[in-house]
Amino acid sequence: MSTFDQQYEKRDIMIPIAKPQLDDAEIQAVSDVLRSGIIAEGQRVAEFEQAFAEYTGTEHAVAVNSGTAALHAALLAHGIGRGDEVITSSFSFIATANSVLFTGAKPVFADIRADTFNLDPQLIEEMITPATKAIMPVHLYGQPADMDAINDIVEEHDLILIEDACQAHGAAYNRKKVGSFGTGAFSFYPTKNMTTSEGGIITTNNRGVADKARMIRSHGSKQRYLHEMLGYNLRMTDISAAIGLVQLKKLPEYTARRQHNAKLLTEGIRDIESIECPVITERCNHVFHQYTIRTRNRDELADHLKNNGIGTGIYYPIPIHKQPYYREIGYNDNLLVTERASREVLSLPVHPGVTDEDIATISNTIRDWSDPRC
Ligand SMILES: *Cc1c(COP(=O)(O)O)cnc(C)c1O
Repeated sequence: MSTFDQQYEKRDIMIPIAKPQLDDAEIQAVSDVLRSGIIAEGQRVAEFEQAFAEYTGTEHAVAVNSGTAALHAALLAHGIGRGDEVITSSFSFIATANSVLFTGAKPVFADIRADTFNLDPQLIEEMITPATKAIMPVHLYGQPADMDAINDIVEEHDLILIEDACQAHGAAYNRKKVGSFGTGAFSFYPTKNMTTSEGGIITTNNRGVADKARMIRSHGSKQRYLHEMLGYNLRMTDISAAIGLVQLKKLPEYTARRQHNAKLLTEGIRDIESIECPVITERCNHVFHQYTIRTRNRDELADHLKNNGIGTGIYYPIPIHKQPYYREIGYNDNLLVTERASREVLSLPVHPGVTDEDIATISNTIRDWSDPRC
């Protein structure tokens, strides 16, 4: 996801694809922290960790400074490194696979389901080798991956489960929230379902993993100036945590608004033959980080919407295994479902700032485009 295009380039877009919802409550919370003088890691971070763990239904949460850092620290805390393979999706943001590379381990890509864009459990099974150490499903666009089937594979092969839940705050499978199945990693980047500006968090029920993640976050130390392992500076600030505490309270309302918008938009466009609307699978509470349709004429539709003041996004136009850096280090997979998805997906605005009237505008603008008589 390009931060720059989304936030700064499209100034004449009336309905943007993403917009952080910030008001006086966040401003007040930040100024309280600034006035307190404790602006790095203090009480707010601890409060935010506790609140997020409670929300997700896990025993522990460890706040860090990005979703990427959360993935990286989660992998390291599970002891993943050189010689290990981690099966994941190529149809994701680059951070998913990069975090595996950071540890010295190898990301191995399994193809996705054509309807949900999430890992296909059957294809995960085919990629398992003696070096496989972990499975890292991505709950793409806010829809949980097939957790029953993935859990079965994890148990059968005695693997580690790390969930890339960076797009899925509050999403649930069988009423159990994502990030509580294995070790979860969330992002609080401004375009996500909730924000702390930059930020991320690790969720887990494993005390050993939480303790290790805390050390990795802070140069391998539990006690100041005593360094027991190699760590980094991945700490979240109290300024970010203060924003996060306010945002977390609003998250259920934001999610309800996203789901309402998604439902309304589907009602508005589902009869258009050239468009496939998002599929919500059984057992899933989809939190609609993105509302993603499929169409053969994706670029043309995106232009038409842009010309009418409606922002769209393509997540992701180039799968990870096709990225120049991954080609350079030897990846030459054929992932046909992933590759086709990258040519056909288009995300439409459903964030909490989008009104019913906006949804009608989006539906009508798409209908104009799809109707050959207009
Ligand atoms: C946003 C995102 C990340 C990375 O989070 P950052 O906070 O930007 O580092 C990782 N994986 C997925 C699927 C994401 O959407």
